[in-house]
Amino acid sequence: MSEKKLTIEKIVSLCKRRGFVYPSSEIYGGFAAVYDYGPIGIELKNNLAKAWWKHTVQMRLDVVGLDSGIFMHPTTWKASGHVDGFDDPQIDCKDCKNRMRADHMLEEFDIEADKMTADEINAQVEELKKKGTELKCTNCGSKNLTGAKNFSLMVKSNLGSPVDELSEDNVVYLRPETCGGIYLNYKNVVDSMRVKLPFGIAQIGKAFRNEIVARQFIFRTREFEQMEMQYFLHPSMMQEKYDDWKQVRWDWYLEYGISKENLRWYKHVKLAHYAAEAFDIEYNYTALGGFKEMEGIHQRGDWDLSQHAKFSGKKLDYLDPKTNKRFVPHILETSVGLNRMFLACLHEAYTEEELENGEIRTVLKFDNRLAPIKIAFFPLLKNKPELVAKARELYQKFNSQYNCEFDDNGNIGKRYRRQDEIGTPFCVTVDFESLENQDVTVRDRDTMKQERIKIGDLDAYLVEKL
Ligand code: ATP
Repeated sequence: MSEKKLTIEKIVSLCKRRGFVYPSSEIYGGFAAVYDYGPIGIELKNNLAKAWWKHTVQMRLDVVGLDSGIFMHPTTWKASGHVDGFDDPQIDCKDCKNRMRADHMLEEFDIEADKMTADEINAQVEELKKKGTELKCTNCGSKNLTGAKNFSLMVKSNLGSPVDELSEDNVVYLRPETCGGIYLNYKNVVDSMRVKLPFGIAQIGKAFRNEIVARQFIFRTREFEQMEMQYFLHPSMMQEKYDDWKQVRWDWYLEYGISKENLRWYKHVKLAHYAAEAFDIEYNYTALGGFKEMEGIHQRGDWDLSQHAKFSGKKLDYLDPKTNKRFVPHILETSVGLNRMFLACLHEAYTEEELENGEIRTVLKFDNRLAPIKIAFFPLLKNKPELVAKARELYQKFNSQYNCEFDDNGNIGKRYRRQDEIGTPFCVTVDFESLENQDVTVRDRDTMKQERIKIGDLDAYLVEKL
């Protein structure tokens, strides 16, 4: 058996063919940088979100959940600094009109430009020119480029306004990150729940960014989903809790089948002015060229609550019951894109194996807990009602506990191939012997081994493995 190279074309094609991810608005010619999750994809996405929620909220005494609105008071984003400063530097090609991220262009020359302003980038470009190097369009290679200018990532809308035109008076923003809703509910949670510092608030939800370049399938889109946890604490506890959370998040990936070799830490060198330390967990997206950010784990100081207290005029502090002193809690956050996690899972699971007959088998070897479909039930033949009835009966029984499929289309080989490509751990086939002996064939996705299991023992056999 040999491993084959994974390309983004292979991922995109499998995702479309098997109902994981479709391009948005396809019948209208498509809509850039947005993707739709199909019947199989939504199961994987839900399972990932469920697994994150379980470990981040349900299994912990010190974290509670939240689901806040996507629209918030527009001042939220003034206070957070997003309205004035959530920009990416953009360079355009004057010849082919290609739009490029100026910071990414400088990174090609080993210049860390992540937090640079457009002016700082233009200065760097001049320096490069003096050394005889000029930036080139990533599309057509032309050197006829604009200077860098700031491009706001904020997506604007209007809400409940009779005026069609967007103006300063009626603009609302689609949130660029979910944590804004957490900060605004800090006081509600403290007042309504029995939480004591240190504690966290977590939420999963959509976020929107007007990304300049969004060409890497679901890695960078204009509408995406974040899973964020904001942990409120006294600053004296920051380093200890920060180290704990870094470990918790790293271990979570290993627990769900991401291999250690494909993960690495990236330490931010240039920090936001309020941050003392910031790390990302990067995943080795080989189909996109290598390691890229999947999750950020950042110290945020007391910036967020202080800013919202200043702009709202409301007190957002904490009365320490032990010392009877008030202070503004500091925050550490863990922030991961669900879609990037989804793409990492596809990378990790995607396997091509050469079978003895020379055919290539494509199989997604997901952790069983993440698999979209857990068991597929097949009657050996479609036109034998007694086999169909038995397979249906088993499907109905198991479907109340696990997400299952019933399939009687085409030959068994084709049915196995489809289940392999969506990562179903077990296929159960009812054949003529089943009716006589009360047993079925169970086929294992990874080893392709088939075992005869008594129907009465099937539950125990599968429970242990799922
Ligand atoms: P990048 O540098 O890749 O643009 P970022 O540093 O701006 O990401 P954060 O603001 O830290 O990202 O957001 C937290 C997480 O949200 C990221 O680690 C990523 O997983 C996810 N994310 C951010 N932007 C996008 C996007 N446009 N599409 C998909 N996921 C995203």
